[in-house]
Amino acid sequence: MAPKINYKDSVAVIGAGAAGLYAADILMAQGLNVFVLEASSRSGGRIRSFSSNDITNNNATAAYIYDNNYPPLGDFPVELGGDIVYGSDSALGKIISVLSIPMVDLGGATDEFFLGGQVNTASGWQGDADFNAVENFISTFSSNTNNVSIQAAAGVTPRAQNLLNSQASNLYGSTYDLVSASGVAGELLLRKHDTKRLTVKTNTLQDILLSRFNNVVNKVKLNTPVASIDYSGDSIVITDINGKQYQAGKVIITVPLTVLKDGDISFNPPLPATNATAASKFGMDPAFRMIVDFKTNFWGSNSGFLWGGSFGPQYMNGGFNRTTTYNSTLVITAFGQPAKQLSMQPGSTAVNLILNELNSLYPDRGGMASYWVRKKVVVTNGVPQETDPIVTSYDWFKEPFIRGGISYPLVGATHQDRINLGTNVNGKLFFAGEATDTSGDAGTISGALNSAERATTDLIKSITG
Ligand SMILES: Cc1cc2nc3c(=O)[nH]c(=O)nc-3n(C[C@H](O)[C@H](O)[C@H](O)COP(=O)(O)OP(=O)(O)OC[C@H]3O[C@@H](n4cnc5c(N)ncnc54)[C@H](O)[C@@H]3O)c2cc1C
Repeated sequence: MAPKINYKDSVAVIGAGAAGLYAADILMAQGLNVFVLEASSRSGGRIRSFSSNDITNNNATAAYIYDNNYPPLGDFPVELGGDIVYGSDSALGKIISVLSIPMVDLGGATDEFFLGGQVNTASGWQGDADFNAVENFISTFSSNTNNVSIQAAAGVTPRAQNLLNSQASNLYGSTYDLVSASGVAGELLLRKHDTKRLTVKTNTLQDILLSRFNNVVNKVKLNTPVASIDYSGDSIVITDINGKQYQAGKVIITVPLTVLKDGDISFNPPLPATNATAASKFGMDPAFRMIVDFKTNFWGSNSGFLWGGSFGPQYMNGGFNRTTTYNSTLVITAFGQPAKQLSMQPGSTAVNLILNELNSLYPDRGGMASYWVRKKVVVTNGVPQETDPIVTSYDWFKEPFIRGGISYPLVGATHQDRINLGTNVNGKLFFAGEATDTSGDAGTISGALNSAERATTDLIKSITG
């Protein structure tokens, strides 16, 4: 069959996360000759789910803490990275709907809020001025035009700061003193999909992504970190860390913002100021995911999220409407400073910071979290004894080719900076990846997918004119 687009050179895609896989898929469907270079030993990037492979081989690394003798108990997907589908009609939402994969709407759950050392539902907090100040800020967030931090824009009392941080800032990638209020607001305004928050019920996001892009996954060259890209001549020369060279006519770079900013890939000539300056306007801070199983659900089986923690800014009730057998799992997501503090703990002891936080909020029985947490068992002289809490966690800061969570606008960043970050260089270098999304979904899986569409459209245009 004749190629749909007449282009004799190859196109290289750097990185095999959601953006790289989708970009390669689009270009291959147009008949282009595409190859994908991925630094790590797997495709998927920041989409990574606990899988049966983890149970059979102990894949634990410095970033990935778990014990394959004690896998998570839930009969629902356990996500180590991206987990919530933002928007039923978003790019990710559509992929999942087309595949008819069942989802759970977290809007049907009852959220709980920690404030002043106490826990209550929204109706329980009704009339509390601090609670109302945070919720009012969130309900009018998208109209905020203050190019100051979320903390400064909201101006809530110290009692409400953790609640503000967890609901209005952690969600966008870092703490409220760093994330720009107008930066996030501008992106929320641009979003074209609904505001539903969903989880997948039975299939993991990793399986969904890899099966959707199965044709590309088979072609990805793993364990190939790109060290330099020389685009000074007609043909672009890409060199990996072992000195192996690859040639292409055009390149799509989808590496995380940290990797780009830290200069893991050297460019000849250097990237223009447009792109380099734009990169400095965004942050990408540590990210930590922890999955903790308990012997009973002491926070409420109908709970969706528990907001307002300090070490755990976001607790999600992992089994909500997803389990038939076991609904006693908390999924903790921290970005920025709390993630850094969890990351600094040796080995698996980060779980103690989380258990202590929960103990102070649920103090019965000397601390419900420490009382009910699932523990490892050793048999001494025939007597089984419980030892350490069981935890599965992923420290994205320690993942060598990711080194953080998601990109977010620093104070001073504008929408034009997102556009500049993804601007192609000389019709040769194209940029995709969540940080370069300009449709309001940066920092999400849908943002990564949208960016692939934008970059490939741009690339095809550079060929067809
Ligand atoms: C803890 C956590 C929770 C999240 N929660 C959500 C959520 O609930 N919902 C949501 O929608 N999104 C969420 N996200 C964000 C979402 O996971 C990302 O936005 C998305 O997966 C990013 O895709 P990407 O393709 O842009 O980048 P990545 O998935 O990071 O892919 C980039 C790839 O480039 C590779 N690479 C790096 N350096 C090199 C190099 N030198 N050479 C070759 N390859 C290289 C990396 O190994 C990686 O595979 C979360 C992220 C984290 C970390």
